[in-house]
Amino acid sequence: MRIEHLRQRLRDLGAKPCHEQAILRAWAQARPLDSGRKRADGFLSPRILGALPALGEELQGLARVLSEHPGDDGSARLLVQLADGQSVESVLLPRDGVCVSSQVGCAVGCTFCMTGRDGLIRQLGSAEIVAQVVLARARRFVKKVVFMGMGEPAHNIDNVLEAIDFLGTEGGIGHKNLVFSTVGDHRVFERLPQGRVKPALALSLHTTRAELREQLLPRAPRITPEELVERGEDYARATGYPIQYQWTLLAGINDTDEEIDGIVRLLAGKYAIMNMIPWNSVEGFGFARPEREHAEAIARRLHARGVLTKLRQSAGQDVDGGCGQLRARIVAPRTS
Ligand code: SF4
Repeated sequence: MRIEHLRQRLRDLGAKPCHEQAILRAWAQARPLDSGRKRADGFLSPRILGALPALGEELQGLARVLSEHPGDDGSARLLVQLADGQSVESVLLPRDGVCVSSQVGCAVGCTFCMTGRDGLIRQLGSAEIVAQVVLARARRFVKKVVFMGMGEPAHNIDNVLEAIDFLGTEGGIGHKNLVFSTVGDHRVFERLPQGRVKPALALSLHTTRAELREQLLPRAPRITPEELVERGEDYARATGYPIQYQWTLLAGINDTDEEIDGIVRLLAGKYAIMNMIPWNSVEGFGFARPEREHAEAIARRLHARGVLTKLRQSAGQDVDGGCGQLRARIVAPRTS
């Protein structure tokens, strides 16, 4: 379901813009749909009030928690079931954030990622994306939403931008606290600046070498690291939010001196933050996670050379719940 369809259904029931807004705001805040105004106000017509219980159930059915896996760091991974039985992962992040999925599976096929292994299964509708935020809000306070779960948001850009617009308006989330994450796609740089809600941008760089990037991200759009950084810098300057570069550290692959020099060449002096995340080990993928000391040394060296660098952990690592791992445990691998 798309949010626009939801709005249309309310309009078909005779809802005026103020009714629509009150009902949708209540949903976005995980409150009962009729809680925007007291019934005693006579604010909502009997026809709308009569339809709300069934609509509320339908919205609840968009995303249900199948299982919850708390981590040591205050995060919790949620395995979320969608109305058609498909499942995705959401992550409750420490410090009031939630990471949501935008697709079931992913077509980019990053060679280090469990989600990319089976390809794209289906797109999520904008309402299914927002429903993950509602689930998170039913559990804890949420003021930040990052689109870094399963899927490539640029491949489902209409639904993701609709969800972003909704969360940045009715959802009450600060625009810079909505983070669109992508491997890099020309459509992103064209569409994001046009929205009334302009999210922050995270770019998955992973290497400064174009050839290696093509191997690691085999079906990502062909855009060189140089161009990616150039377009990112334009967006950062236009919005006033730094670009968050994502770098999954793979031992012996992209944790070398050559890469450190490459990062400094591309990012020193840029309005950017480098987030390095040591790869979350998954058996059978042929990669290794770098030693903690080595990762810390890389972050220190980059910092000393003018690149603001943060070393992060993938949430849920201690429960073997890196992106796609929970879902992979309950879904048999496809054979074709
Ligand atoms: Fe898709 Fe992201 Fe996994 Fe790459 S890392 S396959 S873009 S979900």
